[in-house]
Amino acid sequence: MQATTKASATALSAEYLGKTPRKRLVRRLQLDHSQAVRHSVQGLFLALNAWIAVEFLLWVRFFESHGRTTFVERPAGVDGWLPIAGLMNLKYFLVTHRAPEIHPSAMVLAAVFLLTSLFIKKAFCSWLCPVGTISEYLWKLGRKLFHTSLTIPRWLDLPLRSLKYLLMGFFLFVVISMSAAALNSFMLTPFGIVADVKMLNFFRNLGLIGVAVLASLMLLSVIIQNFWCRFLCPYGALMGIVSTLSPIRIRRDAAACIECGKCTKACQSHLPVDQLIQIRSLECTSCMECVAVCPADHALQLAFAPRELSTASDTTTSPYTTRWRSRVLQPRAVVLALALLFFGLIGVARATGHWQTIISRDVYQQMVPHADEYEH
Ligand code: SF4
Ligand code: SF4
Repeated sequence: MQATTKASATALSAEYLGKTPRKRLVRRLQLDHSQAVRHSVQGLFLALNAWIAVEFLLWVRFFESHGRTTFVERPAGVDGWLPIAGLMNLKYFLVTHRAPEIHPSAMVLAAVFLLTSLFIKKAFCSWLCPVGTISEYLWKLGRKLFHTSLTIPRWLDLPLRSLKYLLMGFFLFVVISMSAAALNSFMLTPFGIVADVKMLNFFRNLGLIGVAVLASLMLLSVIIQNFWCRFLCPYGALMGIVSTLSPIRIRRDAAACIECGKCTKACQSHLPVDQLIQIRSLECTSCMECVAVCPADHALQLAFAPRELSTASDTTTSPYTTRWRSRVLQPRAVVLALALLFFGLIGVARATGHWQTIISRDVYQQMVPHADEYEH
């Protein structure tokens, strides 16, 4: 991928063969496009969610106006905003091997996001999640305004970070403690059927307290980097735990690294990247900011475990190239993997009729205008 001069290749080979280590910079020649690609994907996914929100609002308005407005199909993608329903349906499916009837797309999307974490760490958070995108723009705005972010001291950071795991534990407990039959019965109640409408109404009818909470969260997100994601998001916490199984991680090649520390400074999750050989942390989101700023050839990359160099012939060209050949995930490969998982699973769900909730218009007409009256 990157050219290496004859002299530097000899120096690198010497390092690998156990001779005097020399920390000289072998500069990457290829420009890094990871952040431009990532921001484009984030923008597209944000636009997709905005489109879904408008469609869903029009769908709800049709029933609220008793058919006086234009009818649009219910966008099943809105179920991505029902993560608890997604986990409930996923458990129901895993236990019974039957697809849920209500909000099946919540299950499909939960599976997509968890599989993403299983393969590419928490890439969902930094590449797709609209909340993560807004959060990132907010702290970047804060940096522009105040030239810094508020640093939470370590003694406070750790307990605050555990909040999201506590929330996750609570939701998992609820899902795990319910039997498959109970989960199915719950989803078939009016409360379960219009859970999406109730969520919309929650945001449409925010009271004074709701507005104050939302405004506080946004303000905290401006002054503290990734406030919501770092301390409060239970879905991110779950994906972080799943991501520990990912074979693809940020990996540092100590021999190529010149120990400049730029990666650690750039890390959105405050990880000591320049001290580690691989990033196992539950907090790493595969944002690749660290890779983008690294000046050294093959020193830091999103990759599978490197090859072991066992013979001298392995090091005849560039040892780094040999070591990392076919192991590194370029940004376009991340996009391809995300697209395959996302569109692949949704395509299968659509083709097999397990994407959209099948409820007649008449039933929705009875329930949607009264969504707020249904309690569980
Ligand atoms: S280690 Fe790198 S990829 Fe992981 S969160 Fe930090 S900057 Fe992003
Ligand atoms: S950015 Fe990090 S990995 Fe790259 S050379 Fe500097 S310290 Fe090493």
